[in-house]
Amino acid sequence: MTALGVAPSDLAQRARRIGEEIAGPAADEVDRRARFPVETIEALRAEGILGALVPPELGGWGTSLAEAGDTVFGIGLHCASSAMILALHHLQVACLARHGRNHLLRDFQRDLVERQLLVASATTEAGVGGKLRTSLCAVERDGDLVFLTKQAPVISYGAQADAVLVTARRTTDSPPGDQVLLLCRPPGLVLEQMSDWDTLGFRGTCSPGFMLEAKGPADQVLSDPFADIATQTMLPVSHILWGHVWLALAASALAKARSYVQGEARKQPGVAPPGALRLAEAMTLYHQMESLVQGAAQRFDQRPAGEPVPMGEAIALNSLKVGASTLLIDIVSRTLAICGMAGYREGSPYSLGRHLRDAHGAALMVNNDRILGDNAQMLLVHREQP
Ligand SMILES: Cc1cc2nc3c(=O)[nH]c(=O)nc-3n(C[C@H](O)[C@H](O)[C@H](O)COP(=O)(O)OP(=O)(O)OC[C@H]3O[C@@H](n4cnc5c(N)ncnc54)[C@H](O)[C@@H]3O)c2cc1C
Repeated sequence: MTALGVAPSDLAQRARRIGEEIAGPAADEVDRRARFPVETIEALRAEGILGALVPPELGGWGTSLAEAGDTVFGIGLHCASSAMILALHHLQVACLARHGRNHLLRDFQRDLVERQLLVASATTEAGVGGKLRTSLCAVERDGDLVFLTKQAPVISYGAQADAVLVTARRTTDSPPGDQVLLLCRPPGLVLEQMSDWDTLGFRGTCSPGFMLEAKGPADQVLSDPFADIATQTMLPVSHILWGHVWLALAASALAKARSYVQGEARKQPGVAPPGALRLAEAMTLYHQMESLVQGAAQRFDQRPAGEPVPMGEAIALNSLKVGASTLLIDIVSRTLAICGMAGYREGSPYSLGRHLRDAHGAALMVNNDRILGDNAQMLLVHREQP
């Protein structure tokens, strides 16, 4: 595959088509067997979508975050696990595109576009959990080479990824908060699987634990401190793209509920079925969630890259994560109440089991309590008007 050229204007439609024709038909089996949605990722590769966020000077499209979010949404309408894989991959590419400035990291991005490489993330660490801004493992240096060993309890699609972006302490003498982000890739990368991934939801993300061993040139370490990468890119982009996965999951559940209510209405023309009012209520929550997610994406695209994120915006981006993940569970629970047994039963056109199980992953993906804790700290000193 060669450089991508100009971004197609119908990127979102292409993703929706892949969602409808490929991810959707496979979704139940991907969930049941907790298997990697290989056919969907191959289709995204064939469309060049894995390189979408790479800047044009490196062969990508320099796609905006709102457009990238649309690709995630188009897949997520049909398979939330596949959409989460795409969201996590786009997130890694965004970090590389904005903070990977040296020759090695720029060459990697060219390679990523050419070969549509899939990039995973290892921020969570044994003994630290989801505390993003703390690492125990440390980069060791020997001349121009770096070495890293990390116990990573969750790496989504770790076994299928072509590279992993990993957080670690800058040196063995650095305190836990002095972190860097490091690109690890074969042949210097060895992942030994240490646990299974048999979870309630997001089963197709295939996210078991690994012992990660990496060595390679020192230029694999991104030069910006991870503190800057996290606040300027990783936190905003993760909350916005995860938000698109959850929004699509909510939209998909609502589509089932609407179809159920319309079916009930056809049975008794002229009489609004009881679920119609419940559906209208659930839609108001959906529109709140949509404004949260899309508004944050637009604000991100308008802010120049590399500019510090004001504290008020950092608080809003954390609120987006907590708010959207909470609204998601509420919306999907309401659609289950609307569809009743038809939604509770597996194998019906209105089955909502997978949606409900996936929805509960959202609040845990970096625990909402941790995020509220961060906002609580910022609000102690924040002075701008909310
Ligand atoms: C579908 C999915 C995919 C994932 N993919 C990846 C991936 O690719 N790479 C990766 O690195 N990680 C990944 N993760 C992990 C994720 O990002 C979080 O780091 C992880 O879910 C946190 O795990 P935890 O709940 O065990 O840990 P913690 O966040 O440590 O939470 C454990 C418990 O402690 C409580 N707690 C701990 N500290 C605090 C605090 N300060 N304030 C309030 N409560 C606290 C929480 O309430 C919770 O009950 C994924 C998670 C999911 C669900």
